[in-house]
Amino acid sequence: MTENNFYSGAGVNRAGPLRPDADWVRGRVTSSDARILPIWREKNLIAFADGSQGEPRMAWITAEDAAALADDNPNIILLGEREGTSFFAIDLSHLENPATVPALSHGMFVGLRDVGGMLDRADGALLAYAKGLIHWHERHPFCSRCGSRSDIKDAGHVRVCANPDCKTSHFPRTDPAVIMLVHMGDRCVLAHNRRNPQKMFSTLAGFVEPGESLEEAVAREVEEEVGIRVGSVRYHSSQPWPFPGNIMLGFHTEAISTDIVVQESELVEARWFEKEKILNAAKYGLQLSRPESISRRLIDDWMHDRV
Ligand SMILES: [Zn+2]
Repeated sequence: MTENNFYSGAGVNRAGPLRPDADWVRGRVTSSDARILPIWREKNLIAFADGSQGEPRMAWITAEDAAALADDNPNIILLGEREGTSFFAIDLSHLENPATVPALSHGMFVGLRDVGGMLDRADGALLAYAKGLIHWHERHPFCSRCGSRSDIKDAGHVRVCANPDCKTSHFPRTDPAVIMLVHMGDRCVLAHNRRNPQKMFSTLAGFVEPGESLEEAVAREVEEEVGIRVGSVRYHSSQPWPFPGNIMLGFHTEAISTDIVVQESELVEARWFEKEKILNAAKYGLQLSRPESISRRLIDDWMHDRV
């Protein structure tokens, strides 16, 4: 392992113990150097060095602008502090056309996946954190136990049911998914997933189900998707994946059978690939997973015997 996976390593102190202190949070959000990261309909505010061309970088607004742009129920959520600066996130999805708002004119809302790999790594992680947390709030306005409205507490890290007979606390969740490179000797299995419009070959992946270990989830998903049985399962690393709310848990796993039977509802195609073919992917017109993805990291580390 040489470095963190992309979308991790935001380098912020999340200030967990201070979140319940409303006075402290108010002091931080109104401080002159607070940076508020806006989210609009699942997109992040990004500035470009040269109009819409140049290098993308994280953009933010001031607390004053955030207060002016917020709707009746503003959700300014504390992300944490980095080098003395407080970072927050706000959902501006109620705006009809943010491109016409002067306070947002230094950037534009774009999908994080469209620019992710080109961002500064720590900023990319912060934007992913903001996106994931705002997504959770947007999808959980009501209590899942009694159906009443829920209110934000602890600077946005808890929602509490407003029904006095319920008062259930709900915490932001991230759903675990396993992602694994299946290998045998000098070959590995890569697949073209139906959800990917491009003919891109990546590792297999799937959600962890209740009542199974991560190792069991790896073995089950591999067998379901390509009909291969696996032996050893070795943990590699993890990656926050806010598309929309997952943590990817990466593994290398050794195949003990070779015949592929593709699960057609999930995959267009799955094949064994020799190392030589992956090494010369461009020559063969083989498109691999995106460089910032843990899928690519699993492939690259296996290629270089880092398993
Ligand atoms: Zn409730």
